[in-house]
Amino acid sequence: MTAFRFDNTYARDLPGFYASWQPARVPAPQLVYFNDGLAAELGLDTSALQAQAGAALFAGNSLPEGAEPLAQAYAGHQFGGFSPRLGDGRALLLGEVIDTRGRRRDIALKGSGRTPFSRGGDGKATLGPMLREVLIGEAMHALGIPTTRALAVAGTGERVLRELPLPGAVLTRVAASHLRVGTFQFFLNEGDMAKLRRLLDYAIARHDPQLAGKPGCEMAFLRAVAQRQAQLVAQWLNVGFIHGVMNTDNMTISGETIDYGPCAFMEAYDPATVFSSIDHGGRYAFGNQPGIARWNLARLAETLLPLVADADDEAAARQALAEATAVIDEFPALHARALLQGQRVKLGLGAPASAFGADEDAEDSRLIDAWLALLHTQAVDYTVGWRLLAGAADGDSEPLRDQFRDRNALDAWLLQWHARLQRDTAAGGPVAADRAAAMRRANPRIIPRNHQVEAALAAAIQGDMAPFRALLAAVQQPFSDAAHLDPYAEPAPASQTAAYQTFCGT
Ligand code: AMP
Ligand code: MG
Repeated sequence: MTAFRFDNTYARDLPGFYASWQPARVPAPQLVYFNDGLAAELGLDTSALQAQAGAALFAGNSLPEGAEPLAQAYAGHQFGGFSPRLGDGRALLLGEVIDTRGRRRDIALKGSGRTPFSRGGDGKATLGPMLREVLIGEAMHALGIPTTRALAVAGTGERVLRELPLPGAVLTRVAASHLRVGTFQFFLNEGDMAKLRRLLDYAIARHDPQLAGKPGCEMAFLRAVAQRQAQLVAQWLNVGFIHGVMNTDNMTISGETIDYGPCAFMEAYDPATVFSSIDHGGRYAFGNQPGIARWNLARLAETLLPLVADADDEAAARQALAEATAVIDEFPALHARALLQGQRVKLGLGAPASAFGADEDAEDSRLIDAWLALLHTQAVDYTVGWRLLAGAADGDSEPLRDQFRDRNALDAWLLQWHARLQRDTAAGGPVAADRAAAMRRANPRIIPRNHQVEAALAAAIQGDMAPFRALLAAVQQPFSDAAHLDPYAEPAPASQTAAYQTFCGT
């Protein structure tokens, strides 16, 4: 059957970068989730994916025509320590399709059995974490944040042994590509410069085609990846997202969020927030994410340097190092600009970039820092705080004030903010009602609240998919004020959040 019209450049152009491999057979495939919207976007022939045929396909028991399944090789720094050989230990790239907008997208299975990269692992995935990836990925997508997405989840009918036996599942993941910082690290570690060059050419053709064949394309590529990551992490911060495991193998070249393992959304604002059970040092805490992105980009830079200059040519090597260092050093400013741009929209500022220039940047940053400090010291829910600020733009600041213990401090800040808004309106920004509406399109009311996610997954594992479906529908409308979604806008009880822990790769 031809559900997918595959055109597999990775398999074709990069022999020696992967192991061709087949998914494991599973006893009783069952389609648990199918993303109709994404299937339409991909231009799939869904008639070929009905019922049992679709279940068998998404569980890995039958391969769609044209698929060339392969496990990709990659390395990675995990919590700062280098692992030279990670790779797809439980995933297989089936191939690539061109979507209805002309974009090349990877179609991959996750949880499809052991591969040559599995090390001690069983190559399997369980239902809860795969449905979690659906929920968080679709929420991110609805929030306008670049992300890999789930096309389908199939149950396998087998039990997978974790701490307890759990229902097995396979996720079908769609990505702009699965190239990671760790893919480059793998071939640097092998010392294979020809392969590194081929990988770079491939990545450029796929993600930065305007750089193809240009002199200086190596550092231009590094800068392009840095720009995407600066923007991505800014978007994470502006919705309170904590990735939780920003290892270099989990950072894409495309700038999409990938690998929804121990990720979670922050509730009360605190930049030190960590949920992952294994992140003891807080390396991947909410507020550390920009610094980690920079650190990961430095690892990517190290893989590109030998392509720019031969180590024997000392002057050229020094020059290349200086250039790469400049890109890495520029990252904090790149990120800060992307962050401020997003924060200004969240704050209700709509006037075009102003004549005040750098002074205004500094002033707006101070205003935002003061707001965040208020949320922090008064333990206000990050999402609720920003959302209610929209009401305050419209003249109703009482619901916002109700969130604060020390209202005087808030009132003082609101005065400064209103003064800034007046200046914004004078400079061409919106008037009050339009501003509030714009803020409600930038500050979500509904995010996947951790307690809701856990409850939905617990029910799903017991066979009741209704809470999952309701939560999914809610997080797909993050900016909606519809009353029936009210329960999904509620923060978790603080006691629950304090005890909340997430787990890796399970
Ligand atoms: P992750 O934490 O999902 O980013 O995975 C890190 C590495 O561990 C990757 O190489 C995965 O393929 C591998 N891995 C994770 N879970 C399993 C598993 N159950 N079986 C085999 N490999 C796994
Ligand atoms: Mg990973």
